Formats: sequence, structure tokens, C-alpha cells
Amino acid sequence: MCGIVGYIGTRQAAPVILDGLEKLEYRGYDSAGMAVYNGTSIEMVKAMGRLKVLFELTHGGETLPGTAGIGHTRWATHGQPSDLNSHPHMNTEGTISVVHNGIIENYIALKNKLLKKGYKFLSETDTEVIAHLLDYYYKGNPMEAIIKVMHRVEGSYAFGILFSEFPDRIFAVRKSSPLIVGQSKEGCFIASDVPAILKYTRQVCFIEDQEIVCLRRDGLKFYSVDEEEIEKEPVTIEWDTNAAEKGGYEHFMLKEIYEQPKTVFDTLNPRIRNNEVVIEELGMTDEEIRNLGKIFIVACGSAYHTGVTAKYVFEGMARIPVEVDIASEFRYRDPIIDENDWVIVISQSGETADTLAALREAHKRGSKVLGIVNVVGSSIAREADNVMYTWAGPEISVATTKAYSAQLIALYLLALKFAWVRGELSADELKAYIKDLRRLPDQIELLLGCKGRIQKFANRYIAAKDIFFIGRGIDYAISLEGSLKLKEISYVHSEAYAAGELKHGTISLIEEGTLVASVLTQESLYQKTISNIVEVKSRGAFVIAVTNEGNTEIEKAADYVVYIPQTNRYFTNSLAIIPLQLFGYYVAVGKGCDVDKPRNLAKSVTVE
Ligand code: GLU
Repeated sequence: MCGIVGYIGTRQAAPVILDGLEKLEYRGYDSAGMAVYNGTSIEMVKAMGRLKVLFELTHGGETLPGTAGIGHTRWATHGQPSDLNSHPHMNTEGTISVVHNGIIENYIALKNKLLKKGYKFLSETDTEVIAHLLDYYYKGNPMEAIIKVMHRVEGSYAFGILFSEFPDRIFAVRKSSPLIVGQSKEGCFIASDVPAILKYTRQVCFIEDQEIVCLRRDGLKFYSVDEEEIEKEPVTIEWDTNAAEKGGYEHFMLKEIYEQPKTVFDTLNPRIRNNEVVIEELGMTDEEIRNLGKIFIVACGSAYHTGVTAKYVFEGMARIPVEVDIASEFRYRDPIIDENDWVIVISQSGETADTLAALREAHKRGSKVLGIVNVVGSSIAREADNVMYTWAGPEISVATTKAYSAQLIALYLLALKFAWVRGELSADELKAYIKDLRRLPDQIELLLGCKGRIQKFANRYIAAKDIFFIGRGIDYAISLEGSLKLKEISYVHSEAYAAGELKHGTISLIEEGTLVASVLTQESLYQKTISNIVEVKSRGAFVIAVTNEGNTEIEKAADYVVYIPQTNRYFTNSLAIIPLQLFGYYVAVGKGCDVDKPRNLAKSVTVE
């Protein structure tokens, strides 16, 4: 979901575009390409791999003449990373070229219609639909064609578009994907993010959803989707390049915490249609779902914690027995897997060595494997029988936040799908669950507003030696992740305990002032966990509670309370984790730790 750069001006476009794409490398990508109008036609070069390949193919852009062009670094969502799937994409005549950042949700329906009209597709991407759809609507007026496409397309997009019949312009539009434009004496620019063009200009305009920009060498014009011209004042960017990469956030981790409403929306939205859960890529037949015997969820680290949550959700909602395994254990424990059992492996990178080995072990035992991964074309995506992608986009911070949230959504959707097919839900129940899911992005946004309060609270604990997280049921799963977040980036020792287990040993570690973070989002378990809070308090603990709005009774027991908005009991993890992520983050910041790159840890663990 990655980088766009476009330029029209007095300089040669290709080197400017390459330079800009390089500044967007931090966003992560798997292939790159560009298209430039060379004086007679649109010339395109694209290739899988690093930008270096594109540099070499074009001698740093020099071999591509022309002063108007668009470029792209792709983070594959639809179709493997490959030369053909790289952007730009063109219409058959090669007269319209488009780069895209985002996901076209209704691309299959659009593609089928275009195929019927005789259009031929070269790639597996959702984006190629746009090139052909523009061709279909183009009758000599680019704006008209673009607006018609905007009306037909569902999903998220930022497009850069070049028409060979209008080589003195570049067009750009966006909806829910980032895109900015800039202007200098030497021309105009489009980019997914400010750092790409900071070298050339600090005068930047932000494009709002559904706005269209027409760029010429000497100026920019903005239009609404009704073709009304819009006035816009440029903003002067004061940030340095480093701060700009992080969008003004101090760390990628905080930026990614703040991206969670969008991540949740992107992973959820394309899979909900008319109050039904539609997971196009799932590839499991209803028959297979009905026959499911048991599910093994296998993963490492935070992904394993989403599995612990999913056990409660799958068992409660779909009545399917679930075993959750740490991948490095599963592969050596000689698991008993029956013919109708499925193994679900979860990994952000899709390269986690232990999870990949577990997948292979499951295959050896004749089991089918479903992978939940973030990186298209990764080893797990290739080797699993079926893949469900989390559309979190590239995650840069080592400690996961947004990929974790996206994995939760993928698992909720699977649980709903399985429960529905197996007859465990009525249509009304399904509708109610879907309604709750759809509210999550706004509710997460709301919760992010507690940042200041959590920061103040966290500052009191930067010298803490031990912190305990407790909860029951799903709240235990949330505690596991809250504790991991804290310890991996702040190096404060912490442990998560099933609240009822505390008195079987660990309670002896509670001393005067020890912080205990308790999670109480499961109404049926409130009283039980409150009893455990009372136990630790009477031994001197200071207790923070994360609980549902309305559970004011907690204020009698806990010292400090954070309320989360009301949602279904199965989905509370998506909300309760937000203050815990912020807590871990601010303890680490307060201690001066290298938040994005904690010591001894790697983002993608490719060794056993
Ligand atoms: N969905 C498009 C693709 O898979 C765009 C990906 C991106 O934003 O880089 O090609």
C-alpha cells in the first residue's frame, strides 16, 4: 500500500521520480516502476525488487526522456510481487497509465464486466481494472473519465494518472489513501508523503477525500467530484526529512498505533457485504467449514496472543474446539491432527521461521493450512493452502501494533463466517456482530484520545521493576499482549497472569506499590476479577483497571480506571489493547529507550 511520486516540470522527470521514491522506501515495498511521456508516447519501466533494479534499468532515470511522469513502489495486496503486477498499469493501447496506492474492493465485479466487453488483462492486480475502466470511459476528456471511474470504484485509492493525449498534465485523486501535492519554480509534484518532495519544495497542499488535482508544469488546479474548482492554500512544511517520514510522530510505533482505525477498517470493510461476511480468498468450501473437527492456531509472539483471543471467539461463537500453540512448541510436540482439522498459522511478515516450520509440519501430517499474513507473496502465503491477508500495510516499528489489530479482525471475521455456515448464528445475531465490528474503527479513534492521560500515568512507572497484568478469559489474552508490549520496548519486567492463577504462587511477588494492570471487559467475569484485585490490593498493589464504560463499580476496587466504549464481548480486545499499547509506549519513551528498534529484537524472526 505504498508509494506514489509524480512530477511535471522543466527537469527530466525520471530522476526526480526515482529520487522521491527512494525517500518513500521506509514505507516498505516489493517492486517499483515508472511511466514517463517521452515526447511521442508513454514509456514504462517496472520490475520486482528493490529500487536499485529500476535505477539500473534506467541508468538513474537518464534513459527515460521526458518531463512528465508517475512512479510507484508497490506493497502487493492483490497478486504476488512480480514484474507484471508492478505498477504502473496501462490500457491496451498504452495511452493511459496509472499508479495506485490502496485496494479496489469491487475489482472482481468491474473486471468481469470489462472482460465481457473484450478488455484483456495482463496482471492479477486490482489496479489494472482502473487503467481499463479509464479507457472505457475516456472520450477525449480526462476529467470526465476520472470522475466516472470514481463513481464506479469502491475501496481506497490514491491514483496518479497520465494520458498520452494530454502530456502537459498529470492527474491525481484520492480516497482514504494518502496523497499530497507540491509546487516549486521547477514544476509540480504528487507524492504519498512529504519526504518524497522536500528536497524540491516545502510548499505542500493536502488533498481531501474525493478531490481531483490537475497538475501542469506551472500550476495546480483542484476540483471536487462535481468538477467544481476548489481554492487551496499551500502549507509550508517546517519538519526535517526524518520527522516527515514519521508524519510528525516521534516514533513509527506511535504513528502505527494511530493508524489502527484505518488498518481495522481496511481489513474489515472489503469483507463485509450486505450484512454478510465474504472472504473471497478463503477458498474453503461450506462443506469443509461444516466438517471442521478442530482448529489449531499456531503462531509466535503477539500473533500467538491473537490466537489466544481467537480460541475464546471461535469456541464461543462457532462452537469449534480450538488449540492454540506457540509455533516453536507445535513443531516438536507430535500433535494429533485428524483429517477434518485445520491449522491456522498467523504471521505479520509471513517469514517467521518457527511458524513456517509449523506450517510444514502440519502439511506433513496431512492437514490443510490457512495462513493469516500481512505480506503478499511471503513464504507462508505461498506455502499455505489458503491465505487471508491482513491489510495493515507495512509495519516499521519492531513492536507490532497495527498488524496485531488487523490479525484480530481477520480472526473475528473467520469466526463469524464459520459460525454462520455451521448454523450457530441467526441472521439477526450476525447483523448485530457486524454492526459492532463496523463501529470499532471510530471507537479506537475515540480511545486514542486518552493518550495524554496514559502518558502522565506511564511517567510514574518508568522506574518500575515488575508489573503484573491480570485478566480472565479474553481479558487474559489482552493481558498477555499488554505485558509483552511493555516489556519488549521498555525493558521493564512484567508478567501476564490469568487472574485466578495469581494466588497459586505469583501473589508472593506483590509488594507495596507494585503496579497491577487488570483488564475487565467480560461482564460475566467482573466479580471474579474484582476479587483478585482486592487480593493484590490488600498486599499493597497499586491497581489500574481497563474496563467497559458503565462498569463504575470498579472504582471502589481499583486506584485508576480507563474505560473503553461498549462493544460485543468477543471484540473487546480490539479496544482494551489501545491504552495498554500507549502505556508500554510511554514507559519506554519516558525511559529514553529506542522504541522502534528495541535491543536484541528483529522485526521478522527468520531463524529458529
Ligand atoms: N492494490 C494494489 C496492488 O496490489 C496497490 C498496492 C499498493 O498500494 O502498493 O497492486
